[in-house]
Amino acid sequence: MDASLLAALGFLDCIVFQRLSPNEFEVLYKAGNWLDELLPETVGSKIFSFEHNSAYLEDFLIDAENLWLVNKNGRIDSGMWSEQLSNQVIRLEASAVVADKKNYLIVNKLNAKYKQKQETLQIARESLLTADKISAQHDYLHSRLEELLSETERAFPANQPVTQALAQTDLGVAIFDTDLLLLNSNPALRSIFDDTNIKTNLPADKLLLELFRNQYPECERIFSTASSWIGEIFWLNPPLQGKWLKLSIQPIKNDAQEVQNWLFSASDVTQVKYLLKRNEKLTHFDALTNLPNRQYFWQNLEKKIQQNRPFYLLYLDIKQFKRINEIHGHLIGDEVIRELSIRLNNLVNADDMIAKIGGTEFAVILELKHSHAQISSMDQDYAVTFAEKLIGTSCLPFYLSSGLKCEVGLNVGVAAFPKDSSSAEDLMKYADLAVYAAKKKSISSISFYSKELVDASRKRIEMEDALRNALQNQEFELYLQPILNLSNGQIIKAEALIRWHHPDGHMVSPDEFIPLSEQTGLIIPIGKWVIKEACAILKRLTSQGEPIKLSINLSPRQVGDRQLFEFISDTLIESQVNPQQLEIELTEGVLIDNYDRVHFLLAEVRKLGISISIDDFGTGYSSLAYLQKLPIDQLKIDRSFVNEINENSQDSDGAIILAVIAMAHNLKLEVIAEGVETELQRDFLKQHNCNIAQGYLFSRPLPYDEFCELLAAQKAKK
Ligand code: C2E
Ligand code: MG
Ligand code: MG
Repeated sequence: MDASLLAALGFLDCIVFQRLSPNEFEVLYKAGNWLDELLPETVGSKIFSFEHNSAYLEDFLIDAENLWLVNKNGRIDSGMWSEQLSNQVIRLEASAVVADKKNYLIVNKLNAKYKQKQETLQIARESLLTADKISAQHDYLHSRLEELLSETERAFPANQPVTQALAQTDLGVAIFDTDLLLLNSNPALRSIFDDTNIKTNLPADKLLLELFRNQYPECERIFSTASSWIGEIFWLNPPLQGKWLKLSIQPIKNDAQEVQNWLFSASDVTQVKYLLKRNEKLTHFDALTNLPNRQYFWQNLEKKIQQNRPFYLLYLDIKQFKRINEIHGHLIGDEVIRELSIRLNNLVNADDMIAKIGGTEFAVILELKHSHAQISSMDQDYAVTFAEKLIGTSCLPFYLSSGLKCEVGLNVGVAAFPKDSSSAEDLMKYADLAVYAAKKKSISSISFYSKELVDASRKRIEMEDALRNALQNQEFELYLQPILNLSNGQIIKAEALIRWHHPDGHMVSPDEFIPLSEQTGLIIPIGKWVIKEACAILKRLTSQGEPIKLSINLSPRQVGDRQLFEFISDTLIESQVNPQQLEIELTEGVLIDNYDRVHFLLAEVRKLGISISIDDFGTGYSSLAYLQKLPIDQLKIDRSFVNEINENSQDSDGAIILAVIAMAHNLKLEVIAEGVETELQRDFLKQHNCNIAQGYLFSRPLPYDEFCELLAAQKAKK
């Protein structure tokens, strides 16, 4: 047999046998000397029969015999196996072939091929590590740029440090304004798309935007909600033509939390992707979790749609994950994701599919038990139960190898085929919108895509836009609600409650916009305005001979702001207000979420002379231990408990109030009753030694001037 032909066929270090009859083989070609040791029966005579020297080969011969008996042109391969010879291990692969009614057996020595395969895998592993390094470098450069950009108060193009940083980095960067018009890009970005063989009509920045828009249906939501995003996009058909890019998109916000710029950074990861692509497993599966990846999921989603039977698409997003990465580092973060993926995968049925489709995102195609043409309410219950199971398992603690314990959670967004859409792109987009809605709630939640959800999300975006302009347009006002001493009916202090005069003419209650400003970070500038305005009011009141106290509400995110304390003390100094005239109110949730930080902050604040109240007491989960340890001055009993005191109430209805009053007195804290609306409530409180109260019975929250009139009237009575 012609060796060059064998070489061309991919066989080189091999033996070729012809099968003459079921038990008779003839050696046609032989290269290398390993055959003699492996199959001594072939030595000596040209025609031989196999003698049980290789169990693996013998097993393969059973399958081969079936092919040979049929005697139709064809071929089957054995897969690779190893044999131990006296001084070496060899790796072999056998093929049974029928060609022109002749039967052949080819045994091929694969050591060279095996080595090559191992090397490829090694390169792939190294590439993965390199990819991690690129990622780390990418992340570092990205965060430096972000810092530089948010530091700058000057107009962007004139900013020297940014321009220098851009010129030097080999990360491709484009900076856009809020209308996604390019402000600046760097040579590295241009060189990514600078391929002499490919003609592009678009400049690099436009191309980058267009690729992202076309490949990720989530893009609209990302821009409209000022979210950040990280992932991979492709340009043309890599690796033969074009490239794979890792892309990060980050909104850069100013102090008022308005988006000023969009920072896009891209690096070329084609080499890494290419090596991974050569290994099918790595192409379709996520390296960290071994679950199918986004591309593979997408393919399956499209196949599923073609089958035209209803199903649910669930989009899962790990809650609070950024915190784990920030506090414990990426390695711990990875461990949590891996462990979570095992837990989730265990709950997914064999017919369903789960995939890891993003850094902290999974997706599930949930088959329905019965196949009607449309989704029913029973199906919806089934999807809810399933999603609840996923959430349940994600909320159990993670005990990590380092001995650490972590907790996460899961938000689930659901879209239904064909009810919501019949296109893979829309289903992904809708499930993403739904998960975004779920994220707005503080606990792990499930949200189904619906038209109302889209309307609510649009309304939210509109409100958010309006809220962003509210500070600048001076649309906020602090109302003051008197707090009275019940024994003599005198106003001893007031609570400052914010009001928003919406440009459309109606007044928005803080219950509507404070949670939204918490979520968007706008609470930081709004909170600062409240502090400044409260100090300004205190100064005016004092100068009018009314040196009363004013309490302000702080929300959780403000307490997490490292500059809060400094800001309060600077503002007090600037406005020459005595700190003892200021009081802050925190809800119980803040204390628990952030115990160490709150403890430190409260101690500092109190050193200045500011007093501290726990607001809405009784509605959260404060333990007595917290109350004892934290430096606090008052408890404000939530109005829901005060509300229980009425003509129809039983003795037991006042029990909580009585318990809180007794406890506060034991802890040497003052008690304030909120929401007193009736004389009955006032008398009940007085009778039980709660002598400070606030409520509509005395006065609603009032604009500054009206509040002053109230004070003046009180003075006049004396
Ligand atoms: P809060 O701090 O518990 O304020 C008391 C709320 O109860 C106020 O609602 C007040 O108008 C209302 N209220 C007072 N007396 C009565 C009464 O007799 N009956 C009834 N039904 N309600 C009464 P408001 O002003 O709508 O504020 C709601 C919440 O918004 C506040 O609850 C507070 O948590 C938050 N908030 C208000 N202003 C600010 C602010 O400047 N910053 C922050 N972070 N949160 C604020
Ligand atoms: Mg309050
Ligand atoms: Mg309250």
